[in-house]
Amino acid sequence: MQDFNIDLHTHTLSSDHAYSTIVENIHYAREHHISMIACTDHGPDLEDGAHPWHFHNLKVVPRVCEGVAVLRGIEANIRNDGSVDVPLRALPMLDIILAGFHPCTAPMDIERHTLAYKKLMDDARVDVITHPGDVRYPCCYEEMLLYAKEHHVAIEINSSSDINTRMGSTQNCKEIARLAGKIGNIISLGSDAHICYYIANFESIKEILKEGNIKEEQIINRSPKAVLDFLESRGHKRIEELRSFFKC
Ligand SMILES: [Zn+2]
Ligand SMILES: [Zn+2]
Repeated sequence: MQDFNIDLHTHTLSSDHAYSTIVENIHYAREHHISMIACTDHGPDLEDGAHPWHFHNLKVVPRVCEGVAVLRGIEANIRNDGSVDVPLRALPMLDIILAGFHPCTAPMDIERHTLAYKKLMDDARVDVITHPGDVRYPCCYEEMLLYAKEHHVAIEINSSSDINTRMGSTQNCKEIARLAGKIGNIISLGSDAHICYYIANFESIKEILKEGNIKEEQIINRSPKAVLDFLESRGHKRIEELRSFFKC
């Protein structure tokens, strides 16, 4: 399997518990031959999530900065009822919408987490479910993954889990990868970098992907074209500048 040089989950200091600016992220990406990053700060429900204006104003970020493609994104918070905190005004500006459970949502039980994921997918705005292996928010993985497959929603394998955060999640992540390999889910890789030095560091998940028998064709990070095709298939507008930049 290739070394992936696209990272679809990064944070900036617009979320206070992250430490790099978007420009520092771009410089790091440029120096490490990373072709594309998605800028996906936390939604406003989280205590130190980005302000709602942060998201709609992402339009000022050029499509390609110093040779690095930048997707305008959010990592929204899934609430107990399966709704998300994507600011309405930002919706048309966003290229990619991630969502996951975070501490602003009190953990419930397996059944209710599963139900929240399904409601989230019914709502159809969210493209990628982040870190579903979080030990604090377990769900019925098979049911959730089958629903994701049916609703064309990508599942993230997150390389910060059990390294920088969400300690104890590895077993769940392995189980999710094993099921996703069998079901054939669309997979998104995210470093969840909260500082530039971690961008596109996928070392910790190589084994999980291999053990889960995840095929390269399942992983949208395999090429810029695969990312852009996926986002268009999810109903996002075609990004001409990136299509022409990558000649794809
Ligand atoms: Zn997260
Ligand atoms: Zn994150």
